[in-house]
Amino acid sequence: MKSYLAVFLMLLCESLYSAPLQYNLTAHEIALNTWVVEGKREDFSRANGGNIVNTAFIVTGEGVVLLDTGPSLKYGRELRTLIGTITDQPIQYIFNTHHHPDHFLGNQTFHDRPIYALPKTGKLMAEHGSAFAENMYRLVGDWMRSTEVHLPDQPLTLERLDLGGHRLRFMSMTGHAGADLVVLDETTAVLFTADMVFYQRALTTPHTPDLKQWITELAHLEKLEFKWLVPGHGPVSEGTEAIVQMRDYLIWLDKRLRQAAEQGLTMNEVIQLPLDSRFVGLAVARKEYIRSVAHLYERYENAMFE
Ligand SMILES: [Zn+2]
Repeated sequence: MKSYLAVFLMLLCESLYSAPLQYNLTAHEIALNTWVVEGKREDFSRANGGNIVNTAFIVTGEGVVLLDTGPSLKYGRELRTLIGTITDQPIQYIFNTHHHPDHFLGNQTFHDRPIYALPKTGKLMAEHGSAFAENMYRLVGDWMRSTEVHLPDQPLTLERLDLGGHRLRFMSMTGHAGADLVVLDETTAVLFTADMVFYQRALTTPHTPDLKQWITELAHLEKLEFKWLVPGHGPVSEGTEAIVQMRDYLIWLDKRLRQAAEQGLTMNEVIQLPLDSRFVGLAVARKEYIRSVAHLYERYENAMFE
């Protein structure tokens, strides 16, 4: 009996190790010429290979505009192949929206194309990129094989770009990562917010300069004329619903941390507090709340003494 079990386990291990890792990316056309590759609403894991992020591309008629390149070389390759199955047009412009690893470690695949990012994003990637990549290897393992940091080579100073009948507008924000690129396609009324907006998935805060700054910038986004919103994580939504959910959570989190500091709670005590019931259904809610307390609570404690 024991030997059967041993053989079974050996075969199971073999099949697990020999199964080729594949993201099996698919793209959905959410508006004219506009495609979104939606990631899972999860945290990084060896099962998802870091595919927890949305990437998107616009087939403009005069080339493809690609927004973000994903978490690994493998993702970048699959993405490039996927784009090739949809159009023969060359990839003309690539934009990295911010310096977080799940959004730009696919850059290596596109080394032969110009890659644009806000100047500060380029600096942050140069500073932190290698540490981020190492951490990704730890979190998702073999999916990252041969992935190296490839920095954007074009500092983005454009405010607008007209390409193949698509009028794109670029906005530089800071609320999520210290440098966050938002793109509005005025032709199709699609707003690509990247991680300035998370939807149906709890937001992350490791590099926010200030929650109030983020809330203020969301108010600017809300006033833009758009129909579809593509968040950095979570499903595409119509109208301002996703922004409203984000703002609600940020205002709640800011207030929670301020009140806890006023009451003199320890970080551990704040972590133990329950989430407001309206946020319990967000994916990864509890985990991201704990992380946010760890990132931010000290600032609120320090503010008590100012
Ligand atoms: Zn992200």
